[in-house]
Order: sequence, then C-alpha cells, then structure tokens
Amino acid sequence: MKIMLLFAAIATLVGPPGKRVPPGKTLTVVATTPDLAAVAREIGGDLVTVTALAKPTEDPHFVDAKPSHLVTLNRADVLIEGGAELELGWLPSLLDNARNDKIAAGAPGHVVASQGIKMLEVPTTFDRSKGDVHSLGNPHFMLDPLNVKIIAADIADHLSQVNPAGAGTFKANLAKFNASVDQKLAEWQKLLEPYKGA
Ligand SMILES: [Zn+2]
Repeated sequence: MKIMLLFAAIATLVGPPGKRVPPGKTLTVVATTPDLAAVAREIGGDLVTVTALAKPTEDPHFVDAKPSHLVTLNRADVLIEGGAELELGWLPSLLDNARNDKIAAGAPGHVVASQGIKMLEVPTTFDRSKGDVHSLGNPHFMLDPLNVKIIAADIADHLSQVNPAGAGTFKANLAKFNASVDQKLAEWQKLLEPYKGA
C-alpha cells in the first residue's frame, strides 16, 4: 500500500504526459522485457528510443516494481508488454499509477504481444497454490522465432498508428527484420535437425 501511495505521489510530481507526438519526433518506447525491447529497436530504428523495465537477469513474472519504472511509464509514448499474465504480478499497479492515457489498455500506444499469438499449454485445471502461474497458456512464446515475426508486425502496426509519418520506415524495418529471421531460421532448423520431435 505504502509503495502505491509513493507511486501516486511521484505521478503527481512528474505531471500529466505530453500531447500526441508531433511528426518527426522520436517515440519513447518502453518494453517490459529486454527481448521485446530488442524487437522494438529493430522495427523502430532511428525513430524510437527503447528501454526495458525488467533486467535480462530478472524473472519476468517477478520484477521488482520501482518508482523509477513509474516515471519511465509516465513519459512513454508506447508500451509493449508480453501479456498472457507474464507481467501480472507487477505491471498492472505500475500502469494504474503512471497516469498515462497514451499507454492505457486499448490505446494505440499499448501493445500486448500475446494477442496475436496462438497460445500453447493452456491449462485445463489451474491452482495458484500449487505454484501454477500460466493460467492463460505459456507466455514465454518469444522463444519461438516464428512468434517473434508476428510480434514484430504487431509492433510495426502500433508504432505506425502512433506516428503515421514513420509508417514507411517501420514497414521497411519490419521487412528487413523478417528477412534476417528467415535467414537465421534456415540455419537454426539445420542445427536442430537431429532433435526433431524432441
Ligand atoms: Zn512463466
């Protein structure tokens, strides 16, 4: 409770977020995890600055919510989250207290990566007391490069909505990203050939 009051106080200090991004301005993008941030950098290129809330060493389910995260979210033009309860334990309260309409649920500036993904391992029974954390299926879908292509397209779509002037750049960056993933996929599939079906 105390930490939430602190968040609310900081949100007041940093004030309301700025108006809609003028064309040509760099978008401030915040991703919950470093892998999502990496994809956002590929798609956004020079038109974005990207930060990740979770450290690469942190379990994305259990990130320590800090006041600095709140400031980062307050100033963001775009938020990219994994979704499917990946950040359930820490992001909702931060988002509430960040007071930023641009990244509110349903806003063009809010990307939920899981929305385009066919979820695997959706449980038929679920019990948090037994340590289950994936009630909507496995949210670690970024491990599949094919899913990363879907998410990259989703990010390009949202960035274009928030900054229509950059749409051409985002589209070109997406094509370049997909081409490099396809090239890598051929290599990876060859490497993993001996483990087919495992
Ligand atoms: Zn998990």
